[in-house]
Amino acid sequence: MNLDDAPVPRCIICPRQLLDHETGRFICTPCEQRIDQDLRKLAGPAGLYARLCLRIQPGRGGDGPVVTRSAGHPMPCNESVLSLTADGGIVSTLETWVEDWSTYGLGVHGSGGRLQHRVDQAVDTLRRNLTRAASRHPALDELAKEIFQIRRQAEAIISGERQPRRVAVQCTCGTVSTVTLDTDGFECRGCEVEYGHSEALRLPLAERRAA
Ligand SMILES: [Zn+2]
Ligand SMILES: [Zn+2]
Repeated sequence: MNLDDAPVPRCIICPRQLLDHETGRFICTPCEQRIDQDLRKLAGPAGLYARLCLRIQPGRGGDGPVVTRSAGHPMPCNESVLSLTADGGIVSTLETWVEDWSTYGLGVHGSGGRLQHRVDQAVDTLRRNLTRAASRHPALDELAKEIFQIRRQAEAIISGERQPRRVAVQCTCGTVSTVTLDTDGFECRGCEVEYGHSEALRLPLAERRAA
């Protein structure tokens, strides 16, 4: 087999064959646009990062994660929200790439500040240099994967917030039923007793058992 033929240059992400006007690039134009879109979604006062921060402390915006816990109120997702929004989470992933890119002459490292500001600054730097990076930085597939993961994780947490929480309650007969917090009521499968909304939510919570 003759392998001396020049290989067809392909996008390292999708991996579509690169077109003539994409010569010299590591990634195709659509993949560049996808990365840009993912980055853009993270930043700004209405971006995913800011919305995750609101999730931790309602009404205070993206000043950074300050957890308000009131005793007895479980906060689902809080751990993952914290790890994403704290120093070491999203902001550090972005800044690590900014730092890495700067060694390729693609932008300079930000000047610090509040977490939201650092996120915005890092996103801005990456977006401004993305087109040049497309033909200069060989690890854009890794960057694309990480940014997409962050976006997906953040979106999952934020959309999960809108779904009503489910709880397992135990009827006096011992049968466990799963209801949403906005349930209109339900009929027990075990004894066929009917429960209304507030009666249902007054039932004792069932222990989660392994099946
Ligand atoms: Zn591509
Ligand atoms: Zn029952």
